[in-house]
Amino acid sequence: MSAIAEVLSTVAHHRAPRCSELPTCAVCADSMVAAEASAYISDHMISYLWTCDNCGYGFVTKHAVKQRIVCN
Ligand SMILES: [Zn+2]
Repeated sequence: MSAIAEVLSTVAHHRAPRCSELPTCAVCADSMVAAEASAYISDHMISYLWTCDNCGYGFVTKHAVKQRIVCN
C-alpha cells in the first residue's frame, strides 16, 4: 500500500512544469495538476494546453523558456 503513494509522489514532482505557479480553472477554480500538451511558440516562449479534470474547461498559458518572469 505504501509503495503506491511513493510512486504517485514521484510522478507529481516529475510532471510539474518549470513554472512554480500552476494555473487554476477560470470556471470552477479547480487547480491544474499537469499540462495536457506543450508547444514552442518561438525560441523563447512555450505554450501549455490545460484541461480541467473537473469541468472540462480548456485554456492555454504562455511561459518564457529562459526567463522565469512570465508565469501567468
Ligand atoms: Zn474547471
